[in-house]
Amino acid sequence: MRIAMPHMGNLYIPFKALFQRLDIDFVVPPLNNQRTLSLGVRYSPEGMCIPFKLTLGNLIEAAELGADTLIMPGGSGICRLGYYARIQEQILHDLGYNVEMVQVGVSQRKLVGILALVKRLSNNAPWLKIISAFRFGLSKLNALDRVEQAVQKMRPVEQTGGAANQLYGQAVAAIDQADDDAALRKAEAEYIGRLHRLDKKASVRPLVVGVIGEFYVVLEPFSNLDVEVELGKLGVEVRRTTFISGWTRFSLFLNPLGVNEKDRLHKAARPYLKRDVGGEGWESVGEKVLHAGHYDGLIHLAPFTCMPEIVAQNIMSRTREDIPVLTILCDEQITKTGMLTRLEAFVDLLGRRRRAKQLVGAGCE
Ligand code: SF4
Repeated sequence: MRIAMPHMGNLYIPFKALFQRLDIDFVVPPLNNQRTLSLGVRYSPEGMCIPFKLTLGNLIEAAELGADTLIMPGGSGICRLGYYARIQEQILHDLGYNVEMVQVGVSQRKLVGILALVKRLSNNAPWLKIISAFRFGLSKLNALDRVEQAVQKMRPVEQTGGAANQLYGQAVAAIDQADDDAALRKAEAEYIGRLHRLDKKASVRPLVVGVIGEFYVVLEPFSNLDVEVELGKLGVEVRRTTFISGWTRFSLFLNPLGVNEKDRLHKAARPYLKRDVGGEGWESVGEKVLHAGHYDGLIHLAPFTCMPEIVAQNIMSRTREDIPVLTILCDEQITKTGMLTRLEAFVDLLGRRRRAKQLVGAGCE
């Protein structure tokens, strides 16, 4: 059995650690690139969202590398994600690949469902070994997210453009290579330390922008044309509430206190939207309401044809909470130049808005 799964940010690293510790043959397809997208677009039904197309491209590339068991998230939510694994499996069979698609519905069976799947894929490995491997994978996930948060803070203030990104690439490789807890802790501490010690511009108070929207396009930089890196180059600090480690805490584990970030967002969104509309539509509205006073602006990432985010986009333009929102529709037609032009104009608007507020605050109306 050769197992593979589609990419979403750095998620392949914790999974690789988990499967390697259980001696499972895990194939990592090439990181998302133009060929992945072209394959996905060529074989997807018209009108599918970019997560479908890119994950299909990954699965084809994994099958080319000999993977025969493909893991794909699914579920019984409102959005069409629940159908994707079956459609993709059919497409792969039509292309002549003899693969089995394993659908993971984490929201229903939470941690128990994941562990049961791992048990099956590992050919019935002992529970102790599975739990230990799973915990190590989670540690890598947490380390990756903590380093990324440090990078987000450093990008807008670094003296030498690109220095934080360069360290980030090295940190990701070091975390990937760490083969025990001590090496992992050392890699994380070393790179967070080096990030904090980078030369900074003097007295900069960067604009703060929240990046919100659909889970996949927020977390997969190839699908959003590296929007966070581009914002950093424009001197903007990015705040993102969606990190896989955070999501894991409230989606995989039972939540005895019953309070989590999602609940807070739903509560905040309720005056405008009272129910789940699929994907992250409800959360996007809540993010705007909740963070209007904290950020200078919001970048809303929405896959083209994504119904939940279309609902959110229409509601967000009418809320009382006043904060500029730029919606970027992600698909294969989006170009970097087009996105940069819009980002530059948006950041310019946020800068003028902050200066105007400061003048009002100083009594110079
Ligand atoms: S939430 Fe939107 S983009 Fe994501 S899978 Fe569903 S329809 Fe596609």
